[in-house]
Amino acid sequence: MSSSPARPPRPTRRPEFMLILGSGLTVLMIVSVVTVLLIREHANTLQAAKRTASTITQLIDADVLRNVELYDLSLKGLIAATERSDLEGVSANIRHLVLFDRSTAARYKGDILLLDRTGEVIADSSLLKPKPGNFADRDYFQVHRQNPELGLFISRPFQTHCVCEDNWRIAFSRRVSSADGRFMGVAVASMRLSYFAQLFNSLNIGNNSTINLLNHQGILLAQQPLLEPDIINKDLSARPNVARILRERDGSFSSVSSVDRQRRLYTFSNVGALPLIVVVALSNDEIFAPWKRAALLISAATGVLCIGLLWLTWMLCMELRRRYRAEGVLSELAATDPLTGLANRRTLDQRLNLEWDRAQRSGEPLTLLMIDVDHFKAFNDRHGHQGGDEALRSVAQVIESNIRRPADLAARYGGEEFAVILPNTDSQGAQVIAEHIRSSVEHLPRVAGDTQPVTVSIGLSSWHKRSNASLEELLLSADRALYEAKDGGRNRTVDAAG
Ligand code: GH3
Ligand code: MG
Ligand code: MG
Repeated sequence: MSSSPARPPRPTRRPEFMLILGSGLTVLMIVSVVTVLLIREHANTLQAAKRTASTITQLIDADVLRNVELYDLSLKGLIAATERSDLEGVSANIRHLVLFDRSTAARYKGDILLLDRTGEVIADSSLLKPKPGNFADRDYFQVHRQNPELGLFISRPFQTHCVCEDNWRIAFSRRVSSADGRFMGVAVASMRLSYFAQLFNSLNIGNNSTINLLNHQGILLAQQPLLEPDIINKDLSARPNVARILRERDGSFSSVSSVDRQRRLYTFSNVGALPLIVVVALSNDEIFAPWKRAALLISAATGVLCIGLLWLTWMLCMELRRRYRAEGVLSELAATDPLTGLANRRTLDQRLNLEWDRAQRSGEPLTLLMIDVDHFKAFNDRHGHQGGDEALRSVAQVIESNIRRPADLAARYGGEEFAVILPNTDSQGAQVIAEHIRSSVEHLPRVAGDTQPVTVSIGLSSWHKRSNASLEELLLSADRALYEAKDGGRNRTVDAAG
């Protein structure tokens, strides 16, 4: 059977494909741009946090350095006073005044003591008559006895006997030497560690972030806020992050804390030339909290935008499909004869021209059948127009069912006339088809009460490459052959070639 008579152009899916591709790419681009922006913002946030942490370490550096300098000045003043020979005969009062003359300015100052070479207290800044005591076992005493070149020493934290919260101290000490360099004792000043707590507290950095002060051995001198109880004076040098800080002294890195598994940005710097390191550990959660909020909002908005875009694209595709279908139906209707469902005259003309050109190019034969229902006027008179229409449909069905190749086309030429185009078919082959049609029509079931069968006459004309006939001549000769068939008694096929 032939393909659909009108052969409407297949609806192309290209615009739909381009639409899906376009919006897919747009969504991809939006997602990429937003991702790049968020990544950049993330890097900027980290950079800003590093700057903040670095500013905090510098502030602490400066304050600690100034304070330690004050302590050092007190100690130097005390040592200078001990070297004065004119203090031998003066009263205890005046001697005390001279010894501790420069020791008043330091904040969080504890006692300043002068120890002799055996560690005995020989002068005390807070008492005119010093309380007896021996500190020969302390680190700040022993280091100076062992090392004459040490200069200012900062001790490990230690607790005083006082039953108070603020009993943690560190000591600053300097060696007292005789003119010939012999060890004469130690000048030592203690400082309350709450100084650091107060200093760090004044810099509000968040709940999970800490400011720490370590000495070069990895001993923690101060931490604010305290992450673990009893952590002051602990040796943390075995912890990987602390080990790295002790190694690098100055810098910044991001790492997970081995204590609470929280990721933090560690920014640290050495306090001047002192054996102290300030470490600001900012919690990643706190650093990136505003970024996370913004990222969530932007991602949600982008998601809604992309889903909206994809939804619109889908709706548009559905609409395009609906239109394709409607166009298909319309073009089929425009190409089809409504009564018989065969191709109409317009399609016949188009296809005939097309197949004619193709035959000219390929040299293959082309045959045309003109089919006319015999005495149809009389049939109409007998059975009415409705009966006539029914008969025309049956004849059309017979014609349609007798052509088999996809390129064959059966059309209603007009009234009770039909035409069949048989490309690549010579007159011999076409005669067989024509004869089939004629005989099948003749054998159609008769209309009730009619003695006459419906019959058709067929005119056949073939073009082959040796003939030089035109398309008009082909049509004319098929028509002539049809008339010959009528004249010859109807219900027959006549080949124009004779
Ligand atoms: P012939 O054997 O010489 O062809 O005789 P005929 O009566 O078939 O030829 P004629 O041309 O005199 O009459 C054709 C008739 O076909 C006229 C018309 O009533 C009928 N006819 C044409 N189109 C239709 C149609 O669509 N439906 C019906 N029912 N009849 C049609
Ligand atoms: Mg006719
Ligand atoms: Mg007729």
